[in-house]
Amino acid sequence: MPLTGIAIFKLLPKTNCGECGVPTCLAFAMKLAAGKAELVACPHVSDESKAQLTEASAPPILPVTIGAGDRAIKVGGETVMFRHEKRFENPPGIAILISDAMEASEVDARLQRFKQLEYERVGLTLRPELVAVKDASGDAGKFEALAAKVKQDSDASIILMSDDPDIMAAGLKACADRNPLIYAATKDNLEQMANLAQENSCPAAAKASNLAELVELTTKLTESGVKDIVLDSGARTLRQAFEDQVIIRSAALNKQCRPLGFPTIVFPCEMTDDPMKEAVIASALVAKYGGILILSDFQGESLFPLLVERLNIYSDPQRPLATTEGIYEIGNPDENSPVLITTNFSLTYFIVSGEIEASKVSSWLLIKDTEGLSVMTGWAAGKFVADAIAPFVNKCGIADKVKHRKLIIPGYAASESGGLEEELPDWEIVIGPREASLIPPLLKTWKP
Ligand code: SF4
Repeated sequence: MPLTGIAIFKLLPKTNCGECGVPTCLAFAMKLAAGKAELVACPHVSDESKAQLTEASAPPILPVTIGAGDRAIKVGGETVMFRHEKRFENPPGIAILISDAMEASEVDARLQRFKQLEYERVGLTLRPELVAVKDASGDAGKFEALAAKVKQDSDASIILMSDDPDIMAAGLKACADRNPLIYAATKDNLEQMANLAQENSCPAAAKASNLAELVELTTKLTESGVKDIVLDSGARTLRQAFEDQVIIRSAALNKQCRPLGFPTIVFPCEMTDDPMKEAVIASALVAKYGGILILSDFQGESLFPLLVERLNIYSDPQRPLATTEGIYEIGNPDENSPVLITTNFSLTYFIVSGEIEASKVSSWLLIKDTEGLSVMTGWAAGKFVADAIAPFVNKCGIADKVKHRKLIIPGYAASESGGLEEELPDWEIVIGPREASLIPPLLKTWKP
């Protein structure tokens, strides 16, 4: 049973030193009890108390890692219902389904799509992480061969899907060192699947037909020593899955229901035959609160929006994605190349740098730290105004890199040109376009 805030408080040093980031031990205890702080934040707690507090300080939804290497994925670990309260911690894993009843050419094509469909966006690589290997043939040899192939031909994290413990054991023989997810322990095979999870140190999913049965299964799995558990409530319609996801999250966070305090797995691939509907269902479950999503196949037009949605929902709403302040070389700029300046909002940086690249005019791009705000917001907040821009231009070292003294500012900051001319008397301020797409025509007419 999780401890109450007062019970936790009794185990803390009660010195109110504030090193944990909150002013008092009582406030820290309350945050721990609510799952909104981690015990490691207090450096003074005794070992004895630490042992007692471990249960209370564990996240209400335990994190589970699946896979190994670059595509290993950690899911769960969430502490809030809504993103505006804090932030969502671990983005859901996205899996492509491959079965041992498929033609070899189809398996190869899906693995190829898994490897090829990845995208660069705001400096990040967006890509799926998981391949779900399904036993559809009932043949342990085929299942083992497919698991081995997926392991050999890709760096995917693997989900092994079979209800038959003997077939699951064959799959594990091929890829246990990749730390696959065993899907799934049911009321009929729980003991054998729990043994396989223990023997191979792998996470296991519990699959039930309703939430009450799910609680029973995870309780038994935990009692048998399996700690890394993923939940399948059995829902195979969007409505039921959505409802179950919300209930599971709420029960774990608001009622401290430990048997439901694990990440979930959902199956948009089994909810429709229409690929676009499947993408829409997956999109709803990325937002609420799928931990792993199994898709029937990957196509760029549906995978890319899902990856972007996942990125957006799992970024910290209180911290815009930001680029480091400094001078960026686009192409091979020299002493006669144009100098542009903009803010360090990542999207702004990547759009502006992309347009400069497209112009094929090598340039210097100055990125001013505006705490991740865009040009207009940064200007309105007083972080992208003459008084802030001029000291940065003076100290960043651009004057040593170019012979000319022309600075192109964004059109949306045009009202700062007068102030900049006063603050930077050696520089000519050139007002650039409002839209980044108009940067290439401007650069093509550049004369130092
Ligand atoms: Fe209390 Fe520990 Fe926080 Fe200090 S760091 S205020 S001792 S909980």
